[in-house]
Amino acid sequence: MKEKITEIARSIGADKIGFSDVEAYVPTQYNDLTTAISFAVRMSDSIMDSVNEAPTHEYFHLYRSVNRLIDDIALRIVIELQRKGYRAIPIAASQSINLPQNMPYSALFSHRLAATRSGIGWIGKNASVITPEFGPRIRLGTVLTNLIVEYDEAYTESKCGNCNICVEKCPTLALSGVKWNPSVERGELVDVLACSNHMKDQYDLIGRGSVCGICISKCPIGKERL
Ligand code: SF4
Ligand code: SF4
Repeated sequence: MKEKITEIARSIGADKIGFSDVEAYVPTQYNDLTTAISFAVRMSDSIMDSVNEAPTHEYFHLYRSVNRLIDDIALRIVIELQRKGYRAIPIAASQSINLPQNMPYSALFSHRLAATRSGIGWIGKNASVITPEFGPRIRLGTVLTNLIVEYDEAYTESKCGNCNICVEKCPTLALSGVKWNPSVERGELVDVLACSNHMKDQYDLIGRGSVCGICISKCPIGKERL
């Protein structure tokens, strides 16, 4: 079943896929869905390279298009799992669920948590998942399911080393420069309100201020593979 899911995801656009045990983290209403299937779709290098001092309209379009693809891939995986008798839910590609108990701008389940535990990548100083192949030039999808498989090896430490480029390039100084490990919370890496307010204030004409991407485009790990 792991091979079948991997084949489906790859055939419709996923570049990486991993599986992990997330029993300790699933929302209580889905506590039978203890496996996370995490996948990454690679962004266009040409468009990422166009993001320098500000986002571009092409980047916003790509961001939305890849989110749509991620939702499609997740749904296809869920359909296949249900056909085989398993239970599963897709996590929305980009959705903030602002419940009082949630961190601001968090989803029903963290794509980043699923990705690090599933061996997709580590969390960089830009608070994004960094893959060894594509750096942070990816977007993530997640499916939660009761399918039990052999799990992939998790990332448990940052590989950013002494690099600080994203921290220095952030125009609003929203990144702390803290090096990630699994006990580091997102709020220790990035001031999400400062980031969001900067996007709304400065890039209102591009996707109504919902994207930036500078700390992603500037990461050398995504660029060096060119
Ligand atoms: S998305 Fe932009 S504003 Fe937000 S942390 Fe990255 S560089 Fe800074
Ligand atoms: S720019 Fe450097 S510090 Fe920032 S995420 Fe990439 S490797 Fe890590």
